[in-house]
Amino acid sequence: MPLAFQPSANIARMKESATIAVSAKARALKAAGNAIIDLGAGEPDFDTPLFIRNAANLALANGATRYTATEGIPALRDAIAADANRLVRDGPPVTAAEVVVSNGSKQALYNACVCCFGPGDEVLVPTPAWTSYYEMLQLARATAVPVFGDISRSLKVTAEQLAAAATSRTRGLMLCSPSNPTGAVYTAAELTSILTLAAERGWWVIADEIYLRIAYDAPAESALSLAPTRDNLIVINGVAKAYAMTGWRIGWSIAPIAVSKAMTAFQSHTTSNAAAVSQHATLAALTQRDEADAAIRHMVGEFRRRRDAVIETLRAFPSVTYIYPAGAFYLYVNVDGFEGAADAGGAFARRVLEKHEVAVVPGSAFLTPGWIRASYATKQSIAVEGVTRIARCLTEAR
Ligand code: PMP
Ligand code: GLU
Repeated sequence: MPLAFQPSANIARMKESATIAVSAKARALKAAGNAIIDLGAGEPDFDTPLFIRNAANLALANGATRYTATEGIPALRDAIAADANRLVRDGPPVTAAEVVVSNGSKQALYNACVCCFGPGDEVLVPTPAWTSYYEMLQLARATAVPVFGDISRSLKVTAEQLAAAATSRTRGLMLCSPSNPTGAVYTAAELTSILTLAAERGWWVIADEIYLRIAYDAPAESALSLAPTRDNLIVINGVAKAYAMTGWRIGWSIAPIAVSKAMTAFQSHTTSNAAAVSQHATLAALTQRDEADAAIRHMVGEFRRRRDAVIETLRAFPSVTYIYPAGAFYLYVNVDGFEGAADAGGAFARRVLEKHEVAVVPGSAFLTPGWIRASYATKQSIAVEGVTRIARCLTEAR
């Protein structure tokens, strides 16, 4: 008789990633012949720039096939530090010793959560936030404390709101700007006041800057530029989004050396190093600056055109409320009250998929069930058609 699987206490409350589940469902429906418009996936639709793929081919030919140091090859850690130093304004430059290379920024975030937080610790999560923060904190046996942003501020939170949510058990906070799922971007003043509060209170700040280069109206600000100190700061970044390298699985953390050492030890037991060939590809991405900047300019320019087209489309539907998308590639649409459901976002996502063949992510994944997320990291005509169907589905119901 097969052994009945009883999920362990570690994962008893864990939920599958809703963002990944929506993409998987859309892919399966497409494979079955349905003409699905997939606005679920938070993934650039571009191929990795050719110069990066060429560097990977060369690295393979030269034998980049073995284990590397857990924390990454020295040249890549140097390149990441140099890249970060383009953002540091005051304070000591970032050194390679502060850098740990991981399997995607997802692993870097999980390393940070597990190493900095544990049982009894509360971690403030400006909400809505990317679904995996809540689950990673739970897997670290810490308590995620959602702090809800006001719609008048594009669902961003203020330092005052964070201070009001803090208790004697607060140990840190998660930051994400530009934001997944809203596309909102924190201003320098907003970030500075949050970073100052965290420094005063001795909270860890995990600043996820994976969308930093994808901002449309002004450059997005980095915690590396604004933090009064880096003693409590862990900055997460990676190549998945800006360099269209989701499948290569390279991300990193920049953290105080003691934290970096702990994260390296943790990673040495879970996955060891990120793939050697992917590290070499990333080295090219970060050191062949002119080519990289041109590729990013091209892709961000394309995302901007799509963003503008999507906003233009929504002008025809004045009753549809959404967060102004200043960065990343997401449109966060309010669907409160849809079909009278408590989980309005879930009801809407089901309806728009069944009746209009558009895949979106329900806001419940980001702890705001009255919303849905649509990704416009897809061809402009498809994004516009998808958003038109979303708006129609919503206005028909009102
Ligand atoms: N952070 C945020 C906010 C994200 O949207 C994603 C998307 N996957 C990640 C981290 C993880 O990215 P990756 O592991 O592919 O670097
Ligand atoms: N970050 C993307 C998203 O939010 C990719 C899927 C994931 O890793 O969550 O859709």
